[in-house]
Amino acid sequence: MTPSDVDVAVELDTLISQLSLEEKVALLTGRDFWSTVPIERIGLRSMTLSDGPSGVRGPVWSELSPSLNLPSATALSASFDPEMAYRYGRVAAAEARRKGVDVVLGPTINIHRSPLGGRHFECFSEDPRLTADLAAFYVNGLQDAGVGATPKHYIANDFESDRFNVDVEVSERALREVYLLAFERSIVESHAWMVMSAYNSINGATATENDLLATPLCTEWGFDGVVVSDWTAVRSVASANAEQHLAMPGPHGAWGDALVAAVRAGEVEEAMVDSKVRRMLLLAQRVGALGEAGPQQFEAEDGVAFIRAAAAEGMVLLENRGELPWDGAAPASIAVLGSNADQARTQGGGSATVVPEHVVSPLAGIAEAFPDAAVTYAVGALNQVGLAGLPADSLTNPATGGAGVRITFRDADGAELAHEDRLATDFVWFGGDAPIAASRVVEAAFTLTPGADAEIELGCAVTGHARLWIDGDLRVDEQLVPDGEDLGAALLSPRVAAVPVSLRAGVPVEVRFDVDLGVRDDALAGALAFTLGSRPRQGAPEALIAEAVAAAAAAEVAVVVVGTNSQVESEGFDRDSLALPGHQDALVEAVAAANPRTVVIVNAGSPVVMPWRDKVAAVLLGWFGGQEFGHALTDVLTGAVEPGGRLPTTWPAVEADVPVIDVTPRDGRVVYEEGIHVGYKAWLRAGVEPAYWLGHGQGYTTFAIDDLAVDGPVTLAAPASASLTVTNTGDRAGKHVVLLFAERAETAIERPARWLVGHAVVRLEPGETGTVEMPIDARALAHWDGAWAYEAGEFTLRAGATAADLPLAATVTLEA
Ligand code: BGC
Repeated sequence: MTPSDVDVAVELDTLISQLSLEEKVALLTGRDFWSTVPIERIGLRSMTLSDGPSGVRGPVWSELSPSLNLPSATALSASFDPEMAYRYGRVAAAEARRKGVDVVLGPTINIHRSPLGGRHFECFSEDPRLTADLAAFYVNGLQDAGVGATPKHYIANDFESDRFNVDVEVSERALREVYLLAFERSIVESHAWMVMSAYNSINGATATENDLLATPLCTEWGFDGVVVSDWTAVRSVASANAEQHLAMPGPHGAWGDALVAAVRAGEVEEAMVDSKVRRMLLLAQRVGALGEAGPQQFEAEDGVAFIRAAAAEGMVLLENRGELPWDGAAPASIAVLGSNADQARTQGGGSATVVPEHVVSPLAGIAEAFPDAAVTYAVGALNQVGLAGLPADSLTNPATGGAGVRITFRDADGAELAHEDRLATDFVWFGGDAPIAASRVVEAAFTLTPGADAEIELGCAVTGHARLWIDGDLRVDEQLVPDGEDLGAALLSPRVAAVPVSLRAGVPVEVRFDVDLGVRDDALAGALAFTLGSRPRQGAPEALIAEAVAAAAAAEVAVVVVGTNSQVESEGFDRDSLALPGHQDALVEAVAAANPRTVVIVNAGSPVVMPWRDKVAAVLLGWFGGQEFGHALTDVLTGAVEPGGRLPTTWPAVEADVPVIDVTPRDGRVVYEEGIHVGYKAWLRAGVEPAYWLGHGQGYTTFAIDDLAVDGPVTLAAPASASLTVTNTGDRAGKHVVLLFAERAETAIERPARWLVGHAVVRLEPGETGTVEMPIDARALAHWDGAWAYEAGEFTLRAGATAADLPLAATVTLEA
């Protein structure tokens, strides 16, 4: 402790001594969904926490309070650039400040253990070192601006199946070397102010009661912030005896009166409560919620411009057979194909979702960037599941006569409790002021005036007894019960009921809907989500493909946008396949056969298999590119910017090859049998060739690397430095990502085949040569054996562009 730390501690203890036990305990459970309890008497205001991690939603989930939709984490990590992570955190901080948010619930830094993980898109990489390097900068970007960061979810929350109850069995060594590393760096180096404990159990104890909260987090790493539970994850008073500090959401929960009684009964020491309160007050001081200081002010760059640049910086050019960029004569005609070209996914599903003010689809981006080209569009293969909200400009609110929708909340007697006038048709009340818990029936009414003729299905997606009237006819009258038991998934991916409707341009359709929510007493009884919207009518797949092929054959180039959909990549469930959903593979094959200049854009946040990848002119991975996706994409197609991304995780050719894939609990347990061999380490050990190794991706120029050298031994006291030169051998300026791995041939212990010990981004003009230095400290060569252990001797360093393309080697000695 420094002298000023001592002052702070004394000051906080003085405040704590003024609080009753009831006040102290009250502070340890949320006031509501997103905020903490204020105690004005001591100058403590409420603090607001908000998801995160790819934008900041704020306490209200609504189009009336839009947020910047940043590219998802896999796009960020593909940049391999800590500077991007810092800017990303700072843009998020500006959003947080704008929305009155004190702490952002991100970054999500679980590991890409299996590509089936439903929240893969939200996490950085299969490699702990890359995850750690980016996470530390993301945390700094937020906290340098006075907004708290929350690395989550501690720990081993690397998949979603049975996520509330599953027990992850994982060795201590794998925990330390793989799963804990990014948390360690976020805390020891970046001093994160909050950490979120997970839902799952680890080696028999649920995360919120787990000893791992004490050690290593609070003891070894000196974490002095607040451990917030994942939402509803505190389930016992016993968790108050763990280093679990804040239970969210509130106001109800497992602590409250039960914790006061437990303290009085001597089951929980009051000192334990005081220590949690001290952490809460320190957090409040840090974010400017205690006393007069108020939140820190700072300058931030333009968020929309950043999103556009960051999305391009993460795009990975997986294949390019001389097709891209289109920087000479622009194509005279472009056939844009695929469901995701129009209905782009710019973010993954679940709590990471924000409501952007606008989204630029690939189709819109291409039409804008090539104003002189004839741009045609065909869906080619349906990929939309669930309902898409109706276009805002087609809605009239019958109550106001203005744009939008009237929502009415009624109690069990039918009395109106409140109403809202909204501008969209997908609704989430998850926090905010709407009287959801008191409502029995929620109604919606609007007039839809279509802009064009269309044969669609119109319907509702909700949990409860739904009724839908179209032009006065009751067309849906159905009890909709969610699949599965995950409350979050029931909320955010509810069942759909829809009926065929023929729309005529300009002819208004009256739509009325109500849902009887029944009597609810589950943990999310205060939350509600539903969508009123449309989906295309199912047609014959062959006819859609034929239409796309005709468009492709008639155009100079074809751009097929393929991707996942909301039932593939989301919080709350894992994937059951790595194949693209529906008939998208057949679409690409057929289009590629019709037009040799077929460029495929992959709109997915995690690995998909691409059986056609050798048959097309180019494959560009756009990830979930954020709200400026279509602009970033055309920046890359035209060559205005380079595709800056490299794969942060190994992508398979076929699913059966993936060495670590299983996420299905057996007897309530998932065993991490592979131990420390995760990602490329597992692929190397299995001796199987993936489609693309970690690091894969091309720019628009070429590079050579030379002269790998190490300046001396690594000791416990001092790192060595590995250096090499990089030359841009092409004729355009460009970015190169250098990766440095270590191997150990003669060893007494089990080790990965190789592991990442450094990476660097270099940007060079044509013909220019630069030098890259990468420090190697003893920890990069250490292994866990009850403590960090250092096996003295020689390690081989290999440098190159991917986990397998490593032309340079050198030796470094560890003196321990
Ligand atoms: C998610 C967290 C999120 C929280 C609040 C949970 O379901 O797992 O990542 O921060 O909800 O929305």
